[in-house]
Amino acid sequence: MNKIKELELIQKKILNEMQCPLKDAAKNLVFGKGNPDASIIFIGEAPGAQEDEQGIPFVGSAGKELDKLLRSINLTLDDVYIANILKYRPPENRDPTIDEIYRHTPYLIEQIKIIKPKIICTLGNYSTKFVLAQFNIPDMKKISGITQLHGKVNNLVIDGMNFMVIPLYHPAAMLYNPKLRPILGQDFLEMGNILGLEPKKSDPPEQKPEKKIIQKGLGEF
Ligand code: URA
Repeated sequence: MNKIKELELIQKKILNEMQCPLKDAAKNLVFGKGNPDASIIFIGEAPGAQEDEQGIPFVGSAGKELDKLLRSINLTLDDVYIANILKYRPPENRDPTIDEIYRHTPYLIEQIKIIKPKIICTLGNYSTKFVLAQFNIPDMKKISGITQLHGKVNNLVIDGMNFMVIPLYHPAAMLYNPKLRPILGQDFLEMGNILGLEPKKSDPPEQKPEKKIIQKGLGEF
């Protein structure tokens, strides 16, 4: 079976079997997007209002920031896959509860096992703790916060799979705290270096129209 079919089966399992109050309140399942053959997976926290509306992760303001960061190191949705810890939106975008993490992450783990990425980039505290705890939810509390961990590479073997895990600030965090913007930008550039990617050359400065030499007294200003 190919990866797309396997992922569709997980999606059906969530729709048919998963039980969670978030599912009853949400408009749509937000499963994942991108290339199932990608070697990099980004894992965010939970869908927001726009993601819930469209059933696609990272289509709102945080998603626009993530797109820009990906482009800064010449990555596109063809190169990555993007999913979340929670598959349904929590009300008012509140933090995920432990019970929700227990209910939703078995499906995320199945997604990861199908996609088989080499690199996992975690966005923010929840996905960082979940992955660095090696998918073991009780151990999440032993993992430090994203402030200590961002940008540092971790080579882990989880369930017999080798991953390079790179924790990053969540792009939504820099919308609330602009001081994080250069830090996240730099972490992306360093990640690009580690992955051997060329940073995007900044666009050439806009060409100004040639200045006309105007000589006073010659009738033109
Ligand atoms: N924030 C997330 O963590 N995931 C989304 O899909 C959107 C915003």
